[in-house]
Amino acid sequence: MNETARPIRSRRWAPAIRAVAVTAALAVAGAGIGPAAVPARAQTAGRAMPIIRDTEIENLLRDYASPILHAAGLAKQNVKVVIVNDRAFNAFVMDGKHIFINAGALFDAKTPNEVIGVIAHETGHLAGGHLMRMREEMSRAQTASIVAMLLGVGAAVAGAKAGAGGEVGAAALTAPQSMIMRSLLAYVRTQEDQADHAGVKFLTETHQSPKGMMELFKRLAGESLFNSRYADPYLQTHPMPADRVATLEKIAHASPYFDQKDSPALQHRHDMMRAKLAGFLERPDTVARRFPASDQSLPARYARAISAYRHSDLRGALTQIDSLIQSEPSNPYFYELKGQALLEGARPADAVAPLRKAAQITRDAPLISVMLAQASLESKSKDAGRTVVGLLQNASTRDPEVPGMYRMLAQAYASEKDYAHADLASAQDAAEKGDIATARQLAARAKTSLPVGSPAWVRADDITNLKSPKSTARN
Ligand SMILES: [Zn+2]
Repeated sequence: MNETARPIRSRRWAPAIRAVAVTAALAVAGAGIGPAAVPARAQTAGRAMPIIRDTEIENLLRDYASPILHAAGLAKQNVKVVIVNDRAFNAFVMDGKHIFINAGALFDAKTPNEVIGVIAHETGHLAGGHLMRMREEMSRAQTASIVAMLLGVGAAVAGAKAGAGGEVGAAALTAPQSMIMRSLLAYVRTQEDQADHAGVKFLTETHQSPKGMMELFKRLAGESLFNSRYADPYLQTHPMPADRVATLEKIAHASPYFDQKDSPALQHRHDMMRAKLAGFLERPDTVARRFPASDQSLPARYARAISAYRHSDLRGALTQIDSLIQSEPSNPYFYELKGQALLEGARPADAVAPLRKAAQITRDAPLISVMLAQASLESKSKDAGRTVVGLLQNASTRDPEVPGMYRMLAQAYASEKDYAHADLASAQDAAEKGDIATARQLAARAKTSLPVGSPAWVRADDITNLKSPKSTARN
Protein backbone atom coordinates (compact mmCIF):
# COMPACT_ATOMS: atom_id res chain seq x y z
CA MET A 1 0.00 0.00 0.00
CA ASN A 2 2.94 2.37 0.28
CA GLU A 3 2.80 2.78 -3.49
CA THR A 4 0.13 5.41 -2.90
CA ALA A 5 2.77 7.75 -1.57
CA ARG A 6 5.04 7.39 -4.57
CA PRO A 7 5.18 10.52 -6.70
CA ILE A 8 4.68 8.33 -9.78
CA ARG A 9 1.11 7.77 -8.76
CA SER A 10 0.40 11.45 -8.88
CA ARG A 11 0.80 11.54 -12.63
CA ARG A 12 -2.38 9.79 -13.48
CA TRP A 13 -3.57 7.40 -10.88
CA ALA A 14 -5.45 9.00 -8.04
CA PRO A 15 -4.13 12.48 -8.56
CA ALA A 16 -7.40 14.39 -8.52
CA ILE A 17 -8.00 14.78 -4.85
CA ARG A 18 -11.43 15.94 -3.90
CA ALA A 19 -12.17 16.65 -0.31
CA VAL A 20 -15.00 14.94 1.50
CA ALA A 21 -15.92 15.65 5.06
CA VAL A 22 -17.90 13.61 7.50
CA THR A 23 -20.57 16.05 8.50
CA ALA A 24 -22.71 16.64 11.52
CA ALA A 25 -25.62 15.38 9.45
CA LEU A 26 -23.90 12.03 9.05
CA ALA A 27 -23.48 11.78 12.78
CA VAL A 28 -27.15 12.54 13.31
CA ALA A 29 -28.30 9.96 10.81
CA GLY A 30 -25.89 7.31 12.00
CA ALA A 31 -26.58 5.07 9.03
CA GLY A 32 -24.23 6.76 6.64
CA ILE A 33 -26.81 8.67 4.68
CA GLY A 34 -24.66 11.72 5.18
CA PRO A 35 -23.31 11.91 1.64
CA ALA A 36 -26.80 12.55 0.38
CA ALA A 37 -27.14 15.51 2.66
CA VAL A 38 -23.91 17.20 1.68
CA PRO A 39 -23.36 19.30 -1.41
CA ALA A 40 -20.00 18.22 -2.90
CA ARG A 41 -18.69 21.78 -3.04
CA ALA A 42 -18.98 22.45 0.64
CA GLN A 43 -16.61 19.75 1.74
CA THR A 44 -13.20 21.26 1.51
CA ALA A 45 -12.25 20.90 5.13
CA GLY A 46 -12.35 17.15 5.63
CA ARG A 47 -10.81 13.93 4.44
CA ALA A 48 -9.63 13.57 0.87
CA MET A 49 -11.31 11.27 -1.59
CA PRO A 50 -8.75 9.91 -4.03
CA ILE A 51 -10.04 9.61 -7.57
CA ILE A 52 -8.68 7.35 -10.30
CA ARG A 53 -8.61 8.87 -13.76
CA ASP A 54 -8.14 6.45 -16.64
CA THR A 55 -9.42 6.69 -20.21
CA GLU A 56 -9.92 2.95 -20.74
CA ILE A 57 -11.90 2.41 -17.52
CA GLU A 58 -13.86 5.64 -17.81
CA ASN A 59 -14.90 4.76 -21.37
CA LEU A 60 -16.03 1.31 -20.27
CA LEU A 61 -18.05 2.69 -17.37
CA ARG A 62 -19.60 5.26 -19.65
CA ASP A 63 -20.66 2.45 -21.98
CA TYR A 64 -22.14 0.63 -18.98
CA ALA A 65 -23.98 3.69 -17.73
CA SER A 66 -25.27 5.50 -20.80
CA PRO A 67 -28.09 3.08 -21.80
CA ILE A 68 -29.27 3.03 -18.18
CA LEU A 69 -29.16 6.83 -17.86
CA HIS A 70 -31.02 7.08 -21.15
CA ALA A 71 -33.74 4.70 -19.92
CA ALA A 72 -34.00 6.77 -16.73
CA GLY A 73 -34.54 9.96 -18.73
CA LEU A 74 -31.23 11.37 -17.52
CA ALA A 75 -29.31 11.25 -20.81
CA LYS A 76 -29.08 15.04 -21.01
CA GLN A 77 -27.87 15.50 -17.43
CA ASN A 78 -24.30 14.54 -18.32
CA VAL A 79 -23.97 12.20 -15.35
CA LYS A 80 -20.43 10.87 -14.98
CA VAL A 81 -19.24 7.70 -13.31
CA VAL A 82 -16.27 8.48 -11.05
CA ILE A 83 -13.84 5.82 -9.81
CA VAL A 84 -12.78 6.15 -6.18
CA ASN A 85 -9.41 4.67 -5.26
CA ASP A 86 -10.66 2.57 -2.38
CA ARG A 87 -10.58 -1.21 -2.00
CA ALA A 88 -13.79 -1.48 0.01
CA PHE A 89 -16.98 -2.29 -1.86
CA ASN A 90 -18.96 0.92 -2.31
CA ALA A 91 -21.03 2.93 -4.74
CA PHE A 92 -22.94 6.12 -4.01
CA VAL A 93 -24.38 9.36 -5.31
CA MET A 94 -23.68 12.74 -3.75
CA ASP A 95 -25.05 15.19 -6.25
CA GLY A 96 -27.11 14.90 -9.40
CA LYS A 97 -24.07 14.76 -11.66
CA HIS A 98 -21.90 11.85 -10.52
CA ILE A 99 -22.16 8.20 -9.64
CA PHE A 100 -19.18 7.19 -7.52
CA ILE A 101 -17.93 3.61 -7.65
CA ASN A 102 -15.04 2.32 -5.59
CA ALA A 103 -12.27 0.44 -7.37
CA GLY A 104 -13.05 -2.32 -4.86
CA ALA A 105 -16.54 -2.75 -6.31
CA LEU A 106 -15.16 -2.98 -9.86
CA PHE A 107 -12.66 -5.49 -8.60
CA ASP A 108 -15.30 -7.64 -6.92
CA ALA A 109 -17.69 -7.67 -9.86
CA LYS A 110 -16.96 -10.68 -12.04
CA THR A 111 -19.24 -9.57 -14.87
CA PRO A 112 -20.19 -6.28 -16.55
CA ASN A 113 -23.78 -7.09 -15.59
CA GLU A 114 -22.99 -6.76 -11.86
CA VAL A 115 -21.48 -3.28 -12.28
CA ILE A 116 -24.33 -2.27 -14.60
CA GLY A 117 -26.73 -3.47 -11.89
CA VAL A 118 -25.05 -1.25 -9.29
CA ILE A 119 -25.18 1.69 -11.72
CA ALA A 120 -28.89 0.93 -12.37
CA HIS A 121 -29.63 1.01 -8.65
CA GLU A 122 -27.72 4.28 -8.10
CA THR A 123 -29.45 5.75 -11.15
CA GLY A 124 -32.70 4.80 -9.41
CA HIS A 125 -31.69 7.13 -6.56
CA LEU A 126 -30.90 9.92 -9.03
CA ALA A 127 -34.09 9.48 -11.04
CA GLY A 128 -36.19 9.33 -7.86
CA GLY A 129 -34.78 12.65 -6.66
CA HIS A 130 -33.77 10.88 -3.47
CA LEU A 131 -30.88 13.21 -2.71
CA MET A 132 -33.13 16.24 -2.58
CA ARG A 133 -35.77 14.42 -0.55
CA MET A 134 -33.20 13.06 1.87
CA ARG A 135 -31.84 16.56 2.35
CA GLU A 136 -35.32 17.81 3.22
CA GLU A 137 -35.87 14.87 5.53
CA MET A 138 -32.54 15.54 7.22
CA SER A 139 -33.30 19.21 7.80
CA ARG A 140 -36.69 18.19 9.20
CA ALA A 141 -34.93 15.68 11.42
CA GLN A 142 -32.48 18.31 12.58
CA THR A 143 -35.33 20.64 13.41
CA ALA A 144 -36.99 17.75 15.19
CA SER A 145 -33.83 17.05 17.15
CA ILE A 146 -33.62 20.68 18.20
CA VAL A 147 -37.22 20.47 19.37
CA ALA A 148 -36.37 17.22 21.13
CA MET A 149 -33.43 18.88 22.82
CA LEU A 150 -35.57 21.80 23.96
CA LEU A 151 -38.13 19.33 25.25
CA GLY A 152 -35.35 17.50 27.04
CA VAL A 153 -34.13 20.71 28.62
CA GLY A 154 -37.72 21.54 29.53
CA ALA A 155 -38.14 18.14 31.08
CA ALA A 156 -34.85 18.54 32.96
CA VAL A 157 -36.03 21.85 34.37
CA ALA A 158 -39.36 20.31 35.26
CA GLY A 159 -37.57 17.29 36.76
CA ALA A 160 -35.30 19.53 38.83
CA LYS A 161 -38.33 21.38 40.12
CA ALA A 162 -39.92 18.08 41.05
CA GLY A 163 -36.75 17.14 42.90
CA ALA A 164 -35.82 14.22 40.62
CA GLY A 165 -32.46 15.64 39.47
CA GLY A 166 -31.26 15.76 35.86
CA GLU A 167 -31.77 12.13 34.94
CA VAL A 168 -35.30 12.56 33.73
CA GLY A 169 -34.06 15.22 31.37
CA ALA A 170 -31.36 12.96 29.95
CA ALA A 171 -33.89 10.23 29.27
CA ALA A 172 -36.22 12.68 27.60
CA LEU A 173 -33.33 13.85 25.47
CA THR A 174 -32.36 10.45 24.10
CA ALA A 175 -35.79 8.96 23.50
CA PRO A 176 -36.96 11.35 20.78
CA GLN A 177 -33.55 11.26 19.09
CA SER A 178 -33.59 7.51 18.72
CA MET A 179 -37.12 7.84 17.36
CA ILE A 180 -35.90 10.35 14.80
CA MET A 181 -33.08 8.02 13.86
CA ARG A 182 -35.51 5.14 13.41
CA SER A 183 -37.77 7.20 11.21
CA LEU A 184 -34.79 8.27 9.10
CA LEU A 185 -33.69 4.65 8.73
CA ALA A 186 -37.21 3.69 7.67
CA TYR A 187 -36.98 6.49 5.13
CA VAL A 188 -33.69 5.10 3.80
CA ARG A 189 -35.33 1.67 3.49
CA THR A 190 -38.14 3.09 1.38
CA GLN A 191 -35.65 4.80 -0.92
CA GLU A 192 -33.64 1.58 -1.26
CA ASP A 193 -36.74 -0.38 -2.28
CA GLN A 194 -37.62 2.32 -4.77
CA ALA A 195 -34.10 2.34 -6.22
CA ASP A 196 -34.17 -1.47 -6.56
CA HIS A 197 -37.47 -1.32 -8.43
CA ALA A 198 -36.30 1.53 -10.65
CA GLY A 199 -32.98 -0.25 -11.30
CA VAL A 200 -34.71 -3.44 -12.46
CA LYS A 201 -37.01 -1.34 -14.65
CA PHE A 202 -34.06 0.40 -16.34
CA LEU A 203 -32.33 -2.95 -16.88
CA THR A 204 -35.48 -4.44 -18.42
CA GLU A 205 -35.98 -1.42 -20.67
CA THR A 206 -32.43 -1.82 -21.97
CA HIS A 207 -32.90 -5.61 -22.43
CA GLN A 208 -30.37 -6.44 -19.73
CA SER A 209 -30.57 -8.95 -16.91
CA PRO A 210 -31.18 -7.92 -13.29
CA LYS A 211 -29.36 -11.09 -12.26
CA GLY A 212 -26.01 -9.40 -11.53
CA MET A 213 -27.60 -6.79 -9.29
CA MET A 214 -29.63 -9.45 -7.48
CA GLU A 215 -26.69 -11.77 -6.92
CA LEU A 216 -24.40 -8.96 -5.81
CA PHE A 217 -26.93 -7.72 -3.26
CA LYS A 218 -27.55 -11.28 -2.04
CA ARG A 219 -23.82 -11.71 -1.55
CA LEU A 220 -23.57 -8.43 0.38
CA ALA A 221 -26.59 -9.32 2.50
CA GLY A 222 -24.88 -12.62 3.38
CA GLU A 223 -21.74 -10.77 4.37
CA SER A 224 -23.66 -8.38 6.58
CA LEU A 225 -25.11 -11.33 8.50
CA PHE A 226 -21.77 -12.79 9.42
CA ASN A 227 -19.54 -9.81 9.42
CA SER A 228 -21.44 -6.80 10.62
CA ARG A 229 -18.48 -5.12 12.26
CA TYR A 230 -16.30 -5.05 9.19
CA ALA A 231 -19.07 -4.79 6.65
CA ASP A 232 -18.48 -2.89 3.45
CA PRO A 233 -19.43 0.78 3.55
CA TYR A 234 -22.03 0.02 0.89
CA LEU A 235 -24.07 -1.81 3.49
CA GLN A 236 -24.11 1.21 5.76
CA THR A 237 -25.78 3.36 3.14
CA HIS A 238 -27.71 0.44 1.67
CA PRO A 239 -29.18 -1.63 4.49
CA MET A 240 -29.90 -5.05 3.04
CA PRO A 241 -32.43 -6.85 5.24
CA ALA A 242 -33.78 -10.23 4.15
CA ASP A 243 -37.14 -8.93 2.96
CA ARG A 244 -35.52 -6.38 0.67
CA VAL A 245 -33.42 -9.10 -0.93
CA ALA A 246 -36.48 -11.38 -1.21
CA THR A 247 -38.46 -8.64 -2.97
CA LEU A 248 -35.57 -7.98 -5.31
CA GLU A 249 -35.34 -11.69 -6.15
CA LYS A 250 -39.02 -11.78 -6.99
CA ILE A 251 -38.98 -8.79 -9.34
CA ALA A 252 -35.67 -9.88 -10.90
CA HIS A 253 -36.96 -13.36 -11.74
CA ALA A 254 -39.99 -11.79 -13.38
CA SER A 255 -37.76 -10.07 -15.95
CA PRO A 256 -37.93 -11.54 -19.47
CA TYR A 257 -34.18 -10.84 -19.74
CA PHE A 258 -33.16 -12.69 -16.59
CA ASP A 259 -30.95 -15.14 -18.52
CA GLN A 260 -29.51 -12.52 -20.88
CA LYS A 261 -25.70 -12.70 -20.88
CA ASP A 262 -23.13 -9.95 -21.37
CA SER A 263 -21.57 -10.00 -24.83
CA PRO A 264 -18.13 -11.69 -24.96
CA ALA A 265 -16.61 -8.41 -26.19
CA LEU A 266 -17.94 -6.51 -23.18
CA GLN A 267 -16.85 -9.28 -20.82
CA HIS A 268 -13.35 -9.01 -22.31
CA ARG A 269 -13.21 -5.25 -21.70
CA HIS A 270 -14.40 -5.90 -18.16
CA ASP A 271 -11.67 -8.49 -17.59
CA MET A 272 -9.08 -6.04 -18.95
CA MET A 273 -10.32 -3.38 -16.55
CA ARG A 274 -10.03 -5.70 -13.56
CA ALA A 275 -6.57 -6.79 -14.68
CA LYS A 276 -5.52 -3.15 -15.00
CA LEU A 277 -6.81 -2.26 -11.54
CA ALA A 278 -4.95 -5.27 -10.15
CA GLY A 279 -1.72 -4.30 -11.92
CA PHE A 280 -1.84 -0.75 -10.61
CA LEU A 281 -3.27 -1.25 -7.15
CA GLU A 282 -2.23 -4.72 -5.97
CA ARG A 283 1.10 -5.76 -4.52
CA PRO A 284 3.34 -7.57 -7.04
CA ASP A 285 3.13 -10.88 -5.17
CA THR A 286 -0.67 -10.70 -5.19
CA VAL A 287 -0.64 -10.00 -8.93
CA ALA A 288 1.73 -12.93 -9.47
CA ARG A 289 -0.58 -15.22 -7.51
CA ARG A 290 -3.77 -14.10 -9.24
CA PHE A 291 -2.19 -14.05 -12.68
CA PRO A 292 0.46 -16.81 -12.74
CA ALA A 293 2.86 -16.87 -15.70
CA SER A 294 1.08 -19.99 -17.00
CA ASP A 295 -1.97 -17.81 -17.71
CA GLN A 296 -1.30 -16.47 -21.20
CA SER A 297 -4.65 -14.67 -21.58
CA LEU A 298 -4.51 -11.00 -22.56
CA PRO A 299 -5.86 -9.75 -19.19
CA ALA A 300 -3.25 -11.80 -17.29
CA ARG A 301 -0.43 -10.49 -19.48
CA TYR A 302 -1.80 -6.95 -19.06
CA ALA A 303 -1.82 -7.21 -15.25
CA ARG A 304 1.72 -8.66 -15.18
CA ALA A 305 3.08 -6.00 -17.55
CA ILE A 306 1.62 -3.17 -15.45
CA SER A 307 2.88 -4.72 -12.23
CA ALA A 308 6.33 -5.14 -13.80
CA TYR A 309 6.63 -1.47 -14.76
CA ARG A 310 5.30 -0.34 -11.39
CA HIS A 311 7.51 -2.55 -9.28
CA SER A 312 10.41 -4.02 -11.17
CA ASP A 313 12.65 -3.17 -14.11
CA LEU A 314 11.56 -0.99 -17.00
CA ARG A 315 13.29 -3.14 -19.62
CA GLY A 316 11.42 -6.29 -18.60
CA ALA A 317 8.16 -4.36 -18.52
CA LEU A 318 8.76 -2.88 -21.98
CA THR A 319 9.29 -6.38 -23.43
CA GLN A 320 5.96 -7.45 -21.98
CA ILE A 321 4.18 -4.32 -23.21
CA ASP A 322 5.65 -4.72 -26.71
CA SER A 323 4.34 -8.26 -26.81
CA LEU A 324 0.87 -6.94 -25.88
CA ILE A 325 1.11 -4.41 -28.71
CA GLN A 326 2.05 -7.21 -31.08
CA SER A 327 -1.07 -9.15 -30.05
CA GLU A 328 -3.36 -6.14 -30.48
CA PRO A 329 -1.67 -3.44 -32.59
CA SER A 330 -4.75 -1.20 -32.57
CA ASN A 331 -5.32 -1.18 -28.82
CA PRO A 332 -4.53 2.44 -27.79
CA TYR A 333 -4.14 1.59 -24.10
CA PHE A 334 -1.10 -0.60 -24.72
CA TYR A 335 0.67 2.37 -26.36
CA GLU A 336 -0.53 4.57 -23.53
CA LEU A 337 0.93 2.11 -21.03
CA LYS A 338 4.24 2.04 -22.89
CA GLY A 339 4.35 5.83 -22.95
CA GLN A 340 3.52 6.07 -19.27
CA ALA A 341 6.17 3.49 -18.35
CA LEU A 342 8.82 5.38 -20.36
CA LEU A 343 7.74 8.77 -19.04
CA GLU A 344 7.88 7.61 -15.45
CA GLY A 345 11.14 5.80 -16.18
CA ALA A 346 12.70 9.20 -16.98
CA ARG A 347 12.71 8.62 -20.75
CA PRO A 348 10.25 11.33 -21.86
CA ALA A 349 11.67 11.63 -25.40
CA ASP A 350 11.01 7.91 -26.00
CA ALA A 351 7.51 8.25 -24.53
CA VAL A 352 6.40 10.76 -27.17
CA ALA A 353 5.93 8.29 -30.07
CA PRO A 354 3.79 5.68 -28.26
CA LEU A 355 1.72 8.41 -26.59
CA ARG A 356 1.21 10.14 -29.93
CA LYS A 357 -0.04 6.81 -31.31
CA ALA A 358 -2.41 6.35 -28.33
CA ALA A 359 -3.71 9.91 -28.76
CA GLN A 360 -4.23 9.32 -32.47
CA ILE A 361 -6.24 6.09 -31.98
CA THR A 362 -8.37 7.59 -29.19
CA ARG A 363 -8.91 10.80 -31.18
CA ASP A 364 -7.09 12.90 -28.62
CA ALA A 365 -8.55 11.50 -25.42
CA PRO A 366 -7.88 14.36 -22.96
CA LEU A 367 -6.01 12.29 -20.34
CA ILE A 368 -3.75 10.79 -22.98
CA SER A 369 -3.21 14.18 -24.65
CA VAL A 370 -2.11 15.64 -21.34
CA MET A 371 0.37 12.81 -20.83
CA LEU A 372 1.70 13.37 -24.34
CA ALA A 373 2.01 17.07 -23.55
CA GLN A 374 3.99 16.22 -20.46
CA ALA A 375 6.34 13.96 -22.42
CA SER A 376 6.88 16.70 -25.02
CA LEU A 377 7.46 19.31 -22.36
CA GLU A 378 9.94 17.15 -20.44
CA SER A 379 11.83 16.06 -23.54
CA LYS A 380 12.34 19.78 -24.39
CA SER A 381 12.16 19.30 -28.12
CA LYS A 382 12.44 22.60 -30.00
CA ASP A 383 8.78 23.14 -30.88
CA ALA A 384 7.63 21.55 -27.62
CA GLY A 385 5.98 24.74 -26.38
CA ARG A 386 3.66 25.14 -29.35
CA THR A 387 2.67 21.44 -29.53
CA VAL A 388 2.03 21.35 -25.83
CA VAL A 389 -0.14 24.47 -25.78
CA GLY A 390 -2.30 23.09 -28.59
CA LEU A 391 -2.68 19.70 -26.95
CA LEU A 392 -3.52 21.14 -23.57
CA GLN A 393 -5.95 23.73 -24.90
CA ASN A 394 -7.83 21.03 -26.76
CA ALA A 395 -7.80 18.71 -23.76
CA SER A 396 -8.98 21.44 -21.39
CA THR A 397 -12.04 22.25 -23.49
CA ARG A 398 -13.06 18.57 -23.56
CA ASP A 399 -12.24 17.73 -19.96
CA PRO A 400 -11.47 20.64 -17.63
CA GLU A 401 -10.78 18.27 -14.75
CA VAL A 402 -7.57 16.57 -15.87
CA PRO A 403 -5.24 16.87 -12.89
CA GLY A 404 -2.11 18.94 -13.32
CA MET A 405 -3.22 20.22 -16.72
CA TYR A 406 -3.22 23.94 -15.91
CA ARG A 407 0.14 23.79 -14.19
CA MET A 408 1.56 22.23 -17.34
CA LEU A 409 -0.21 24.78 -19.54
CA ALA A 410 1.36 27.59 -17.49
CA GLN A 411 4.77 26.01 -18.01
CA ALA A 412 4.19 25.70 -21.75
CA TYR A 413 3.07 29.34 -22.12
CA ALA A 414 6.01 30.51 -20.04
CA SER A 415 8.40 28.63 -22.33
CA GLU A 416 6.89 30.61 -25.21
CA LYS A 417 7.29 33.79 -23.16
CA ASP A 418 3.51 34.31 -23.25
CA TYR A 419 3.32 35.46 -19.65
CA ALA A 420 -0.26 36.71 -19.67
CA HIS A 421 -1.62 33.29 -20.62
CA ALA A 422 0.86 31.66 -18.26
CA ASP A 423 -0.57 33.77 -15.43
CA LEU A 424 -4.10 32.84 -16.41
CA ALA A 425 -3.23 29.12 -16.48
CA SER A 426 -1.51 29.42 -13.09
CA ALA A 427 -4.63 31.17 -11.78
CA GLN A 428 -6.76 28.26 -13.03
CA ASP A 429 -4.36 25.82 -11.39
CA ALA A 430 -4.60 27.68 -8.07
CA ALA A 431 -8.40 27.83 -8.31
CA GLU A 432 -8.51 24.08 -8.93
CA LYS A 433 -6.47 23.56 -5.78
CA GLY A 434 -8.81 25.80 -3.80
CA ASP A 435 -6.24 28.58 -3.31
CA ILE A 436 -8.65 31.32 -4.29
CA ALA A 437 -6.56 34.22 -3.00
CA THR A 438 -3.60 33.28 -5.23
CA ALA A 439 -5.95 32.54 -8.14
CA ARG A 440 -7.50 36.00 -7.91
CA GLN A 441 -4.12 37.70 -7.69
CA LEU A 442 -2.73 35.88 -10.76
CA ALA A 443 -5.91 36.41 -12.76
CA ALA A 444 -5.84 40.12 -11.99
CA ARG A 445 -2.25 40.29 -13.25
CA ALA A 446 -3.17 38.33 -16.41
CA LYS A 447 -6.05 40.73 -17.10
CA THR A 448 -3.72 43.70 -17.36
CA SER A 449 -1.95 42.19 -20.42
CA LEU A 450 -4.84 40.36 -22.13
CA PRO A 451 -7.00 42.08 -24.78
CA VAL A 452 -10.10 43.39 -23.01
CA GLY A 453 -13.16 41.22 -23.78
CA SER A 454 -11.18 38.32 -25.30
CA PRO A 455 -12.16 34.80 -24.13
CA ALA A 456 -9.00 34.57 -22.01
CA TRP A 457 -9.72 37.99 -20.46
CA VAL A 458 -13.28 36.86 -19.64
CA ARG A 459 -11.93 33.70 -17.96
CA ALA A 460 -9.46 35.78 -15.95
CA ASP A 461 -12.24 38.18 -15.03
CA ASP A 462 -14.39 35.26 -13.80
CA ILE A 463 -11.56 34.13 -11.55
CA THR A 464 -11.03 37.60 -10.06
CA ASN A 465 -14.70 37.43 -9.04
CA LEU A 466 -14.38 34.05 -7.30
CA LYS A 467 -15.34 34.04 -3.65
CA SER A 468 -13.05 32.31 -1.22
CA PRO A 469 -14.68 29.19 0.29
CA LYS A 470 -14.50 30.68 3.80
CA SER A 471 -16.74 33.60 2.99
CA THR A 472 -19.32 31.46 1.16
CA ALA A 473 -19.38 28.91 3.95
CA ARG A 474 -20.43 31.60 6.39
CA ASN A 475 -23.42 32.70 4.30
ZN1 LIG B 1 -29.20 2.53 -2.63
